[in-house]
Amino acid sequence: MASARDNVALIGQELSEGDNIREVCPRCGGGSSGEKSLSVSRRDGHLVWYCFRAKCGYKGATGGSGLIQKAERKADRRRKMWEGKTYPVPDDVAARIHEMWHMDVPENWWWTTDYGGRVAMSIRSPRFTHRGWVLRSITPTEGAKALTYTHEGEQGISWYKTSPHRGTIIVEDIPSAVRASTYVNSVALLGTGIGMDRAIEIADHAPRPLYLAFDQDATAVAHRWARRYALLWGDVSVLPLEEDIKDMKEQDIGELIVHSGLGS
Ligand SMILES: [Zn+2]
Repeated sequence: MASARDNVALIGQELSEGDNIREVCPRCGGGSSGEKSLSVSRRDGHLVWYCFRAKCGYKGATGGSGLIQKAERKADRRRKMWEGKTYPVPDDVAARIHEMWHMDVPENWWWTTDYGGRVAMSIRSPRFTHRGWVLRSITPTEGAKALTYTHEGEQGISWYKTSPHRGTIIVEDIPSAVRASTYVNSVALLGTGIGMDRAIEIADHAPRPLYLAFDQDATAVAHRWARRYALLWGDVSVLPLEEDIKDMKEQDIGELIVHSGLGS
């Protein structure tokens, strides 16, 4: 499986000395707008890259600069590993989840006191094994609302399957995917980025038709992915949302699924 570093090498392979290119960052996917936040340039024959999104900050270099490589290794450690202690979700947190997202706490969600107290949501592989964590703050917090840690070699997307005879909805976050999975198969992207590795995993494991259902402000991004991967995915459309699935009333989710034809 290609690492973020491999993807950068691919992006930079055509660059001439002194040239600079802007692309979608393979680490963070450019956030909810899918912006081209990764700057890659060639200096003294080496590729040097930097993602200017503060939440990501992915940077590195080939060969040469030991300092940048050290920073990159540190960033990799910070992102990929979290092995804190988990506890059953406390009752008051479960009540808050129920109030916010109209759902019971799934069995693979836990609680951690790390980072100010967060819900630890297991990221599920297509075979429903644990492949990492999203640590989600449910109260206003300093820093990122969601911290994502994926085991090495695993994609940072989470799968929920209902039936091989129904379609698959692709959403941004785990709570929306869990709620949609009452009706259809669902995938949480943990953002809006879909690199080639993710696209291939989706192509291999998602029953069709596929629907991309992003927040309203990310609909243009959804259309872009649908176009880019149309040949790979086959039957794919964009499902415009008026509100985030995790915020919808149960009845409205049911109607959305029926009207889209996903549930039949
Ligand atoms: Zn980035």
